[in-house]
Amino acid sequence: MFPQYEIDYITNGIHLPFWVSKPFRKMFGRKWPNWRANPSVLENAIELDPLDIFDAHIENKFNLISYQKGHSWNLLDEELITIGFARRFATYKRAILIFHDIDRLGKIAKDHIQFIFAGKAHPKDQMGKDYIKKIHQSGEYLYDNYGVKVVMMENYNMDLSHKLVSGVDIWLNTPNRYREASGTSGMKAALNGGLNLSVQDGWWLEGYKKNHLAGWSIGPDDSNPEDPGVSNDWDIDSNALYDILENQVIPTYLNHDEWLYKMQCAISLAAYFNTHRMILDYAEKAYRLKKQNPWKFEPIS
Ligand SMILES: *Cc1c(COP(=O)(O)O)cnc(C)c1O
Repeated sequence: MFPQYEIDYITNGIHLPFWVSKPFRKMFGRKWPNWRANPSVLENAIELDPLDIFDAHIENKFNLISYQKGHSWNLLDEELITIGFARRFATYKRAILIFHDIDRLGKIAKDHIQFIFAGKAHPKDQMGKDYIKKIHQSGEYLYDNYGVKVVMMENYNMDLSHKLVSGVDIWLNTPNRYREASGTSGMKAALNGGLNLSVQDGWWLEGYKKNHLAGWSIGPDDSNPEDPGVSNDWDIDSNALYDILENQVIPTYLNHDEWLYKMQCAISLAAYFNTHRMILDYAEKAYRLKKQNPWKFEPIS
């Protein structure tokens, strides 16, 4: 669109003090009293005590599930791997990809995994509304045939988002490649020790590259933007997702130490995917300002 200009990019970030959950805030504060002013210290999340991370996460998980129990007839189970998906139901986000081969999913998830969804569709987006209907139908089928629980929470807003991104074990993200601008909810989950299970698009292209132990990458690693159709194949992507659930997510969850190590890796991503770093990038890359101490900027001469 602007051939005469050189186009650069600035990666999105989240405001950590807002999105950090209470037990993680306390844990970070004990370890790094100044972490809010200098969030890059989170790079050293590997130094956090895994048992503290476990306790903090369990507190969040119980908090989410007890909230859920007050709002839905099908009650989630504290013991199971809990996968969250909360989005606007824009169709490109492919909320129902996970149900593509529902019997394969049922067999894998049985006794191991449960799902919690939330989101709204635009009132004029009939397909988005149909997706929500499909989640309800798929949930009934999975429960009747495999005892697998799928719950859909109403009223997705920032309060619920706070509980979800910190309370789930895994944050699922399956957009059509090249359509997801960022996907900041995945950053919120990582900050609170959630493992991202995501197609390589939006922020996860960068996040997974920075630390591939912070989660998992679903399907082809697209590097040819000219050719998006090929690798947004629902069969290929859903099967890749089932393979990861079966061969990586479940065995890792059963190996406690490995899971906690991955949670440390996830938290360390927050050292970069935050608004402090983003503002500094804007100042330098977009506005050509250089930072003087502290938060004072001068033009780059
Ligand atoms: C973070 C957030 C979003 C944006 O997240 P995506 O990953 O882009 O879907 C949307 N709605 C709420 C309530 C949020 O908290």
